[in-house]
Amino acid sequence: MSTESGIRSRITLLLIWIGSAALAITIYHCIARRRSRARAAQQLPRQYGIETMETRSSVEISTAQHIPAFKFQKGTGLVGGDGTCAICLNEFEEGEELRILPECLHPYHVECIDMWLHSHTNCPMCRTDATPSPAV
Ligand SMILES: [Zn+2]
Ligand SMILES: [Zn+2]
Repeated sequence: MSTESGIRSRITLLLIWIGSAALAITIYHCIARRRSRARAAQQLPRQYGIETMETRSSVEISTAQHIPAFKFQKGTGLVGGDGTCAICLNEFEEGEELRILPECLHPYHVECIDMWLHSHTNCPMCRTDATPSPAV
């Protein structure tokens, strides 16, 4: 055995050793992280569960209430597109109450969008957030 091949095999051994050590460290970190994440997940619902629900219901009420309603009048040009409500697919009739979402300007019947906003906070057509941006 020449010295050179001896060194080479020693280097190979060293590389394998480093490789497995790195693997062991990676696995250890993965397990540790998963453990701490599981612990956080156990604590989270208790801390934020009630809070999130409260925030949501207040958003539900305010979202619909903060969008101004108006009576539809044909030919005013206020309602773009084909003049139909994307929720019930009916054409807007003269004198019907509508809401136009502040962000994307999609029009809906008051009853239709109020029902939708009861469980959602975005536009049913384009998913844009329907919550009016806070007044600056
Ligand atoms: Zn409708
Ligand atoms: Zn929209």
